[in-house]
Amino acid sequence: MISEITRQRLVANWQRVQAEVTQACHDAGRDPQSVTVIGVAKYVDAEVTRALFDLGCRHLGESRPQGLWQKARVFGPGDPVRWHLIGHLQRNKIRRTLQLGAVIHSMDSRRLLTAISEQAAALDLTATGLLEINISGDAAKTGMSLPELDAVIAELPLPHLEVRGLMGMAGWGSDPLAAGRQFERLARLRDEVQQRLGAALPELSMGMSNDFVEAIRAGATMVRIGSRLFDGILP
Ligand SMILES: *Cc1c(COP(=O)(O)O)cnc(C)c1O
Repeated sequence: MISEITRQRLVANWQRVQAEVTQACHDAGRDPQSVTVIGVAKYVDAEVTRALFDLGCRHLGESRPQGLWQKARVFGPGDPVRWHLIGHLQRNKIRRTLQLGAVIHSMDSRRLLTAISEQAAALDLTATGLLEINISGDAAKTGMSLPELDAVIAELPLPHLEVRGLMGMAGWGSDPLAAGRQFERLARLRDEVQQRLGAALPELSMGMSNDFVEAIRAGATMVRIGSRLFDGILP
């Protein structure tokens, strides 16, 4: 059981984040329904994650596959939860992650895409994911460079794999203006890749606690929000 104070803080945080996302959509002239909030649960245990879901946060994100598997255990087959893997996926962890139906935001190499496609075929399901792009140019940030992206595009489509869009993170220490410019670049890149593939790429996963407003302005359809949801709960 989580404490009453934790529950109350979680309720307040969740409501505030939803209100701010809605406001950001209005300010950007966008339909709030067009943006999905992914609650990034990597900071908290399975119980707090479950409590967040019970408040209505149906999309949950984890950066480590093991974290995702472990938390998925507190959910039953009837729970309408959708998992999102937002951090690096090692090839030996693909199978279990796909079995949980997770959207893989972190498809970051040709090798990984091929392996996901093969595993999805073996499981007889269609994997869903996004191409993670290094938009900031930071060596420390993950994601593909543009030449790596070119190599991936040349391989697509792959069987049993549905690429739904692009994912990116602003560089460390980017102020809101700089983050906004990086997100705009990612949105333009999405348009370009869409044209080259001749296939729709409707999703843009970008924006975190500190820059989701800029991301929504630039066209994000998924914002990955962690720390803001756990204000006052984390030690
Ligand atoms: C941790 C994490 C987030 C959430 O970050 P906050 O700043 O805590 O909202 C989003 N995306 C990725 C890839 C992360 O690793």
